[in-house]
Amino acid sequence: MELKRLLERIEGLSGYAVELYRRLIPLKAVPPEFGGEGELRRAEALQEELEKLGFRVERYDAPDDRVPGGRRPNLLVRVGSGRPRVWIISHLDTVPEGDASLWRYPPYEATVEGDFVYGRGAEDNLQAVVATMLLLRALRDTGLEPPVTLVAAFVADEEAGSRYGVRYLLEKLNLFDGDDWVLVPDFCSPDGSEIEVAEKHLLWVKVVVEGRQVHASMPHQGLNAHRLGMMLNLELDRVLHSRFTAYDEMFEPPSSTFEPTRKEENVGNINTVPGRDIVYWDCRILPVYNIQEVEQAFRSVAYWFSASTGAKVSIETVMRDAAGEPTPVSHPLVRSLAEAIREDRGVEARPVGIGGGTVARYFRKRGIAAVVWQTCDMTAHQPNEYARLGNVVADARVFARLLWKAPRR
Ligand SMILES: [Zn+2]
Repeated sequence: MELKRLLERIEGLSGYAVELYRRLIPLKAVPPEFGGEGELRRAEALQEELEKLGFRVERYDAPDDRVPGGRRPNLLVRVGSGRPRVWIISHLDTVPEGDASLWRYPPYEATVEGDFVYGRGAEDNLQAVVATMLLLRALRDTGLEPPVTLVAAFVADEEAGSRYGVRYLLEKLNLFDGDDWVLVPDFCSPDGSEIEVAEKHLLWVKVVVEGRQVHASMPHQGLNAHRLGMMLNLELDRVLHSRFTAYDEMFEPPSSTFEPTRKEENVGNINTVPGRDIVYWDCRILPVYNIQEVEQAFRSVAYWFSASTGAKVSIETVMRDAAGEPTPVSHPLVRSLAEAIREDRGVEARPVGIGGGTVARYFRKRGIAAVVWQTCDMTAHQPNEYARLGNVVADARVFARLLWKAPRR
């Protein structure tokens, strides 16, 4: 009965969602890495709104002297006192608008057309922020308390590494414990049928081949690093793809991926044999492997290549980000969320793995159950980004159901 009242109240809040969008989208929250001023103004508007609703807001500011005000805000609101604690974590920062000429609507205004709200951040991740606000507002309006503890977290710095956001709360302040459930509404499918429970490890590698630069008319006196680089990178391609062949249908694509991507410019003219060749690899590795095995494969190919050609090869890890163990599909968090989705939508949700990285990996690395779920059309980071109000309201309903579904401990 309680839940029914709550769901009905959420249903009536789509006007409130529009109001929030109109207020939050114009408050740009671009991280300093992308030339912005951070989330402070947006966070303060949200805090004001939460306090107006009568919530006590816990605020954890991570110091960052690159932004005006010198801090990156994280807001927490707790409702209820049962167990487990169910965290719903959304992020306040957004990427810049990109090429402004590609936008049909002004990126920093909320333009409402029927069910659609356009604007930078409308989906990523204000849809989650607003859906969480609908849940909080409905709890307040009905005076209900969930049987578990809801912790609504609005965090900074997701788009540029989470050092001042989730990782600050998790690693510096230790606000989480092993029994917590974490829902991150920051990966989506259009019908809400995909629950992300696993991610691939991420590895970026720089491959440098040093030969000897000479005049192109006298190549025998040099060592063409460009040709050797092509040979080496093709050999790496072959070895990596034949060695790491595990296949897991939960993932899309179902195997590890190894892609040579960026290539640095070598010589500026055509008649010089280049003496240095630099290529970068983007590797997304299924969690059945560990990152070190792949790094070792790079080094071992490089060693033999160097020994047989005389070129000097160096392998450098540019970035390494382990995914942590997948959240088991039998975990009550996954089962309860799937049930909530089934009841609300009549859709059978399935667990999936992705090649991208979300903040869920930081929890999984610490053995905390985390799922990533949302309903949207995947317009994040694109021009004319939008969210559907229908999805915002429906996601808030699923959040509510999840709170009443969680087995109490
Ligand atoms: Zn996001």
